[in-house]
Amino acid sequence: MFNLILFGPPGAGKGTQAVKIAEKFGWKHVSTGDILRSEVAQGTPLGLKVKAVMEAGHLVSDELLIEIMESVFVKNSDVKGFVLDGFPRTLKQARELDVMLSKSGQKVTLVLALKVDEHELVGRLLTRALDQGRKDDTEEVIKNRLVQYHNHTKPLIDYYKEQKLFREVYGVGSIEEIFNTLSSTILEHQSIQK
Ligand code: AMP
Repeated sequence: MFNLILFGPPGAGKGTQAVKIAEKFGWKHVSTGDILRSEVAQGTPLGLKVKAVMEAGHLVSDELLIEIMESVFVKNSDVKGFVLDGFPRTLKQARELDVMLSKSGQKVTLVLALKVDEHELVGRLLTRALDQGRKDDTEEVIKNRLVQYHNHTKPLIDYYKEQKLFREVYGVGSIEEIFNTLSSTILEHQSIQK
């Protein structure tokens, strides 16, 4: 089983690439942002709880995220691999992910990060806000999301570097170019594993 974490700041293009990777390799794409947005849209108790936090560009609590991921793993015990997009986002989540995977004898296989500079990220996020009407993409909220990334998510780079699981790919270029680089890095990693 291949457990891939697609890593990077908001606006790096994780969602787009995660869908393509999942399709190519036949893996399950898990976007915690999509799961949470769907709960909000349906007005479930969970959705009501997280709506304001998400709209402000802050992080939802580790406890809720861990609960969500536990249920994802239980429901998808038969898949060949996962593409995790947007999880883990804190050190606590990363450690809990290791615990969850170890319950079925699994580990994180590879962390692939999309590297995009901050100026480019803000531009992309503002364009996306206009195109998709995403409530969490106003300028103020974008700033919050980047601060959350710097304070809570970026430290994961060292966590995964220490385990020699971290690989970085330049995230600027055409979708296909970036996808090809990501795919070949995964294939390379698969052949080393065999
Ligand atoms: P995303 O679509 O991945 O950018 O996620 C949208 C929003 O959902 C984030 O700004 C957070 O409020 C929330 N969210 C998604 N994943 C997580 C996570 N792993 N930990 C905490 N909050 C999350």
